[in-house]
Amino acid sequence: MINLILFGPPGSGKGTQATMLADKFNLVHISTGDLFRSEIGNKTEMGLKAKAFMDKGNLVPDEVTIGMLENKVNANKDAAGFIFDGFPRTIPQCEALDTFLRSKGQEVSALISLNVDDEELVKRLLNRGKDSGRPDDKDETVIRKRIAVYDEETTPVFTFYKAQGIANTIPGEGAIEEIFASLTVLMDSLV
Ligand code: AMP
Repeated sequence: MINLILFGPPGSGKGTQATMLADKFNLVHISTGDLFRSEIGNKTEMGLKAKAFMDKGNLVPDEVTIGMLENKVNANKDAAGFIFDGFPRTIPQCEALDTFLRSKGQEVSALISLNVDDEELVKRLLNRGKDSGRPDDKDETVIRKRIAVYDEETTPVFTFYKAQGIANTIPGEGAIEEIFASLTVLMDSLV
């Protein structure tokens, strides 16, 4: 069973690449951002709570995020494996994921980080904001805040899995197909 964390800052292409990888390797793609946006769309209590954090570029509290992720994994009992996109984003989320997978006799197989320059991220996100319908992609201040939150709260996730010897980095700039090819080579060496 493969449990891959696709890692990187907002706008690094995690969502696009995770969709393609899930298809190629027959894995279930779980994006916590997408799950929150679906809750917002359904106007649930969780969605309303999450929106207040997301619109400002802050992280949604761990207890909400971890429970939602675990429910989604549990709802996919027949999965051959998972790609986690946008999760974990904090050390408590890493610890919760490790404990949760261990309780099922599993573990995180690998983390792959997509490396993209900050100014390229801002450019990509502003461009995506023109038609993504995401309020957090429309405002450059919020975009820069999300990158700062990533630098401060999320980069320790890489170090956490590096200490386990399972963190990898690949360049996230260039053509989508080129990046996908590098990811595929790395995945082939992992599966
Ligand atoms: P994303 O779609 O991954 O860019 O996530 C959009 C927003 O959802 C983030 O800026 C956070 O506010 C929230 N979010 C998504 N995943 C997480 C997570 N693992 N922990 C906390 N907040 C999250």
